[in-house]
Amino acid sequence: MATLTGRYAQVVKKGGPIEVVTREVPDPKPGEVRVRVQACGVCHSDSVTKEGMYPIAFPRAPGHEVVGLVDAIGAGVTQWKAGQRVGLGWYGGHCGKCEPCRRGDLVACQNLRIPGVSYDGGYADYVVAPEAALAAVPESLSGAEAGPLLCAGITTFNAIRNSGARPPDTVAILGMGGLGHLGVQFAAKMGFNTVAIARGADNADFAHKLGARHYIDSTKEDVAQALQKLGGAKTILATVTNADAMSAAIGGLGYRGRFVIVGVPGEALKVNVLPLIFARQTVAGWPSGTSIDSEDTLKFSALTGVKPLIETYPLDKAREAYDRMMSGKARFRVVMVMGA
Ligand SMILES: [Zn+2]
Ligand SMILES: [Zn+2]
Repeated sequence: MATLTGRYAQVVKKGGPIEVVTREVPDPKPGEVRVRVQACGVCHSDSVTKEGMYPIAFPRAPGHEVVGLVDAIGAGVTQWKAGQRVGLGWYGGHCGKCEPCRRGDLVACQNLRIPGVSYDGGYADYVVAPEAALAAVPESLSGAEAGPLLCAGITTFNAIRNSGARPPDTVAILGMGGLGHLGVQFAAKMGFNTVAIARGADNADFAHKLGARHYIDSTKEDVAQALQKLGGAKTILATVTNADAMSAAIGGLGYRGRFVIVGVPGEALKVNVLPLIFARQTVAGWPSGTSIDSEDTLKFSALTGVKPLIETYPLDKAREAYDRMMSGKARFRVVMVMGA
């Protein structure tokens, strides 16, 4: 049989450039599935690979927002068949042995496997992943639309639905970038009294288009006060990476409110502790989720019409796509489309 080859947009060494090469595609080992990639989102967390922030065996193709068709299955795989459409997100397999795994919290696995970090990810024509890491992708979503839902989407969807808020509670989304513009849509479609918080008056129309009932311009208004005027938020989802912007919003929580953080600021937060005690408020973080959470995110999006706003690039322009994402100039999400 002829050897299967494919393009890999790989990082050659820690901090090195992304180079597109053609090399041999491995066969799936027992328990693994090989996927012909249709699209892969470009995420800020891909810098983990590019800058070698985790121990990585280079060369390595980044990419953990992968959508494609099952191409081949390894021995013992029962869940997937060739031709099925699947997605692969940040959760790329678990060890089954650490305490979080033994307690069923697979995404908190202390030996979590991550596509694009632990093994080659979706900046490629093919990806090989454990069968447990895959999610079914509804036909009605295009590959390019489904890609960002597997990271930015699942993170915001899962954080909101697990925050304890119930419709019609008030849910505020802090930030309207790659994560926030999806968070606003999810909260609105879930039936929450949805508040979008961003900088500048010109975002108001857009926030309402995404489904927000209220918009708070953080350059004009005191965010905490504005949220209190609405009765206080049951959940504030913090998608920004600015510690001051986060600290300024925490005071907008209501009774039993929960401040859920999915963006990573460079500095520490300032929190007024009294309401944490007397109004039973919580400040918490949220990781993304497992493959079944991805599947729920995709299903919900297909059912309700939630879509990421994207800019697309071909795989051969992986370096440009990555630079565009890192520049912060892409308003929402960058996605590579493989032309498969
Ligand atoms: Zn990501
Ligand atoms: Zn584990």
